[in-house]
Amino acid sequence: MNTSLSQNIFSAAQALMPGGVSSPVRAFKSVGGQPIVFDRVKGPYAWDVDGNRFIDYVGSWGPAICGHAHPEVTASLQEALEKGTSFGAPCQLENKLAEMVIDAVPSVEMVRFVNSGTEACMAVLRLMRAYTGRDKVIKFEGCYHGHADMFLVKAGSGVATLGLPDSPGVPRSTTANTLTAPYNDLEAVKELFAENPDAISGVILEPVVGNAGFITPEPGFLEGLRELTKENGALLVFDEVMTGFRISYGGAQARFGVTPDLTTLGKVIGGGLPVGAYGGSTEIMSMVAPAGPMYQAGTLSGNPLAMTAGIKTLELLRQDGTYEKLEATTKKLFEGILQSAKDSGIPITGSSISAMFGFYLCEGPVRNFEEAKATNTELFGKLHRAMLERGVYLAPSAFEAGFTSLAHSEDDINATLKAFQESFAEIQK
Ligand SMILES: *Cc1c(COP(=O)(O)O)cnc(C)c1O
Repeated sequence: MNTSLSQNIFSAAQALMPGGVSSPVRAFKSVGGQPIVFDRVKGPYAWDVDGNRFIDYVGSWGPAICGHAHPEVTASLQEALEKGTSFGAPCQLENKLAEMVIDAVPSVEMVRFVNSGTEACMAVLRLMRAYTGRDKVIKFEGCYHGHADMFLVKAGSGVATLGLPDSPGVPRSTTANTLTAPYNDLEAVKELFAENPDAISGVILEPVVGNAGFITPEPGFLEGLRELTKENGALLVFDEVMTGFRISYGGAQARFGVTPDLTTLGKVIGGGLPVGAYGGSTEIMSMVAPAGPMYQAGTLSGNPLAMTAGIKTLELLRQDGTYEKLEATTKKLFEGILQSAKDSGIPITGSSISAMFGFYLCEGPVRNFEEAKATNTELFGKLHRAMLERGVYLAPSAFEAGFTSLAHSEDDINATLKAFQESFAEIQK
């Protein structure tokens, strides 16, 4: 595979931007080798600047669930573009996307749009505190809620990959109110509530973890959190920035039948443009300015381009059979991956739900971040490179979930599985 243009561009980027990238995990640090510089994306494919084509399982880290540059999304964006890119004033498209989100997501009666998942999580924490009058929050090890100070504690994802338990520049005073527990461990949460009576505003989590590889909630875990928060006068918050409109149309909360008090969204609801959102009951959301006293604002929030891409994406997703198709595609892919690892005698464990999957190169089970760390990261680096050379683009980290889309065809899955078969055979030598 010739990647000389990618290499030249990335070398030049190193002097221009820290690490040559706009977001850390893109730099391939944890899998070794040089990153691929993309030129364009379409459907399930990405093309690099050297003209190589890859079947893409990153999907821009989640948004591309209908496939990249879906013709209906780009057509509606072109139309919207003619009317201007940002109003800084109310626009009817906000009502439309808000109605769609409220209809779909069980916990959401009212929503506020922002520009990223990070922003949504920052705002929701402020709202948790404003509503309860309490400062502490419980998060789980390996869950990522964006890069705001309060959440950069045992934060999984890129933070895990780089081996940064924390980040310099985050004051102790900021994280002093962030309590952490192992995922799937109700007892630990119970203890934290007992040790901090009337001080915990709530519990925030990824209802299915996509930022520590892929970890699913054990039966009773989400239900248990629902009960514990209620008993302790605290709020339950699902960070569905990744799982929203992906685990099901109504997110993980619809799939698992547990309704949190507040929900954050992002990724899919922006259809590839920068969007985040947070929402909940009318009572709680009425705390947010200007309806209430909790301040939060945004110059580009709710802009017509982002709203348009989100609306069109959700319209495509709510058609009949969409999630059945995504589930079947992902299941076939995931089971094929497990089988080909086993054929090569490589230990593997993992799971898939709807349009998300993840695997660890170890025996398992993996129920929390500590257990996830047993994965063979060195072997994963080799696998990643071997797959790249066979035209398959996996997330460049052993601690990221994989994403499928409606655009991934039977042929794409078969080609991907052939590449896995060959790659596992190659790396076990
Ligand atoms: C991606 C992600 C975020 C952060 O969203 P950005 O748009 O990258 O700021 C927050 N929470 C979860 C669960 C995510 O997957």
